[in-house]
Amino acid sequence: MPTSNTLHLGVAQSALNQAAQLLRDGELVAFPTETVYGLGADARNGVAVANIYAAKGRPSFNPLIVHVPDVASAQRYVVWNDTAQVLADQFWPGALTLVLPLREGHGLSSLVTAGLDTLAIRVPNHPTAQQLLRLADAPIAAPSANPSGRISPTTAQHVLAGLSGKIAAVVDDGPCGVGLESTILGLTPEVAVLRHGGVAAEQIETALGCALTQAGPNKITAKITAKITAPGQMLSHYAPVEAVRLNVLDPQANEVVLGFGAIRCDLNLSASGDLIEAAANLFGHLHQLDKTSRPIAVTPIPEHGLGRAINDRLRRAAAPR
Ligand code: AMP
Ligand code: MG
Repeated sequence: MPTSNTLHLGVAQSALNQAAQLLRDGELVAFPTETVYGLGADARNGVAVANIYAAKGRPSFNPLIVHVPDVASAQRYVVWNDTAQVLADQFWPGALTLVLPLREGHGLSSLVTAGLDTLAIRVPNHPTAQQLLRLADAPIAAPSANPSGRISPTTAQHVLAGLSGKIAAVVDDGPCGVGLESTILGLTPEVAVLRHGGVAAEQIETALGCALTQAGPNKITAKITAKITAPGQMLSHYAPVEAVRLNVLDPQANEVVLGFGAIRCDLNLSASGDLIEAAANLFGHLHQLDKTSRPIAVTPIPEHGLGRAINDRLRRAAAPR
């Protein structure tokens, strides 16, 4: 994790150019959106995304929302459909996140989606966020720019108070929004409100011309399903098929071995024992080992830094099903 001084940048063209270059170089840059300050990283760069988790001290890998400047950019990463188009016409740029199937050849780090085959994507409305996304010319993963468990930041001072020295820069454009998060709407293909936020369910009903029904405490679903425009582009579902064993030093002959550090194995998360690199490789390696259809043995991974999040994910993969 970088521990240099965090640059406190303004919004002059030169400052935004610098912030965009830092993002392209795989550094972490906090920036304002209409909801809260986001902690941005190039979503194609696994190490950069791993550093988001390290800087926030997150104990688990939840999938992150990817930010892009417009619909055309979004269509490079997800399988678009007519429902998404109706919603984007009405609510983008704005506080609505759409969850859609990942497109073949999307090029994003699997850590961004935590190994899922769907992607949460949003076009933010904040002018500085818009400018930065265009200058960076990269999909930007961005959760709130605060240490895990602390209050979401609505000023650059909040960001610096929590993350100074752990991120490359913060772009300061004064206080942002009211701290209301984006509404997350699943379209995969059932229409479902996954999180309430800035765009009300009623507004979505009006846009789609159909009623949403309550399906659970936090989930509202619509009676319509979104027809995927190009079904052939959908990736297959991810779930480790075979058993996963953890902390293994003496693997059995039939097992494939996922290693960490200087150890004999079939695939190594990080031969040099770097937990950031290991996090960046985690979901990709699991997918690859899954394809062997053999049980997976994982060698010990230290329970500190990003090791906690890695072990958390592996424990869930290893849990009895
Ligand atoms: P945040 O970026 O902190 O506002 O939160 C991101 C939220 O989006 C989390 O609650 C995630 O669970 C949710 N999310 C991100 N990607 C997906 C996805 N592919 N499917 C469902 N929910 C997602
Ligand atoms: Mg947050």
